[in-house]
Amino acid sequence: MNIDATAPVTKFNQEYFHATLTKIAQLASATEHSTLGPVQEFEMLRNCGALEVVLPGGALDFNKPDMPALLKLLKDVGKANLSVGRIFEGHINTLYLIHLYASTQQQEKWYDGVKEKGDLFGIWNTQGKDGIQVYSSSDSFTISGNKTFCSGASLVSKALITGNIETPERAGWQMLIVDMEKIGKENIDAESWKPLGMKASGSYQINFTGYTFQGSDFLGQPGIYLNQPHFSGGAIRFAAVQLGGAEAIMEGTIDYLKTLNRTDDPFQQLRISNICSEITSGRLWLKQSGKYYDEWVDDDTRKDDLIAFANMTRVNIEESCLKIMEESNRCVGARGLMAPYSLERIFRDLSFYLRQPAPDATRLKIAEFFIQNPGGFHD
Ligand SMILES: Cc1cc2nc3c(=O)[nH]c(=O)nc-3n(C[C@H](O)[C@H](O)[C@H](O)COP(=O)(O)OP(=O)(O)OC[C@H]3O[C@@H](n4cnc5c(N)ncnc54)[C@H](O)[C@@H]3O)c2cc1C
Repeated sequence: MNIDATAPVTKFNQEYFHATLTKIAQLASATEHSTLGPVQEFEMLRNCGALEVVLPGGALDFNKPDMPALLKLLKDVGKANLSVGRIFEGHINTLYLIHLYASTQQQEKWYDGVKEKGDLFGIWNTQGKDGIQVYSSSDSFTISGNKTFCSGASLVSKALITGNIETPERAGWQMLIVDMEKIGKENIDAESWKPLGMKASGSYQINFTGYTFQGSDFLGQPGIYLNQPHFSGGAIRFAAVQLGGAEAIMEGTIDYLKTLNRTDDPFQQLRISNICSEITSGRLWLKQSGKYYDEWVDDDTRKDDLIAFANMTRVNIEESCLKIMEESNRCVGARGLMAPYSLERIFRDLSFYLRQPAPDATRLKIAEFFIQNPGGFHD
């Protein structure tokens, strides 16, 4: 299917979406070296309706939960390009928090931005010692400080950021939506991003000092960003994107071996078997965690189960991705890990993107859950 990036399709279109993903995968090696980042990719995702897919009336409307389908969608985007997957997942995550915590008026405003202007959202919580502080002035609020790891920094039009606030009305870790059109290019530090992989995610440091906004841009009350089970449960979304990268490695490995007529070799077949088993187990983790998410997210009695299962999904997919890279590495050898083959880039991207917050603490929490509930999930 030919794709015309200038021809918008108003509703989410599966066929157009899959053709878009093929094109995104083809562009990935050039995009990695582009100073602009994946601009064209998001234009295409916008045009096939993917940015609106979770809005009311959309194919994956959050009001009609279908987490397994959303996870598959995220996996497919990650398979095309992990950096695009990271930024897209941030957009979906922000829309989810707006769905959960915004007032009806705010939802209308921010949803309309996506539908009418094609707004792309980022979500930036990570920061160093010079993080975000929010101050109140007479009729508005001002920010000082920086965020790090701001994926899509130069692409997104609106960003959910978090910061500390201490006023008589609000105290704690507060979410707010920033209009990126008001953030000057000089505040975005592209030099701060020299990673092993995920270069195209453009996860730069941003200085928000001096940004002013109205109270209507606060999203929810202080502290709710960390509300459970949504906070830890949400890890299944980035795990889905990661597994997409591993699927691209699986396909790239088999294609490479076929090109060299090496698929009859039993050593290679053993490794292919291991890779495909890990992919299958990752897909099963995602499918089941999506199902549990839908069933348990509003049930307080299952909150701990949901978090434990999401934690396990995340760490098992991390382990699977690491094993898949090791097996693929041996399958294709040095020549398979050189450009123009895409495996060298996907290895770098996936290795880097697997580094997500608190991997050790997540495993400890899984152990704590099973020490308290030895029969966990066997009900
Ligand atoms: C490609 C990419 C894009 C990202 N995009 C975003 C984004 O858009 N928005 C956003 O908010 N964040 C983003 N992040 C940041 C991400 O959410 C994590 O905060 C970050 O990846 C964690 O960094 P780290 O591995 O250096 O963490 P660390 O916490 O330094 O962990 C490294 C290791 O140290 C261990 N460790 C942690 N604490 C201790 C301790 N006290 N003592 C001993 N060991 C410890 C950990 O278990 C782990 O093994 C992104 C990250 C990546 C890689």
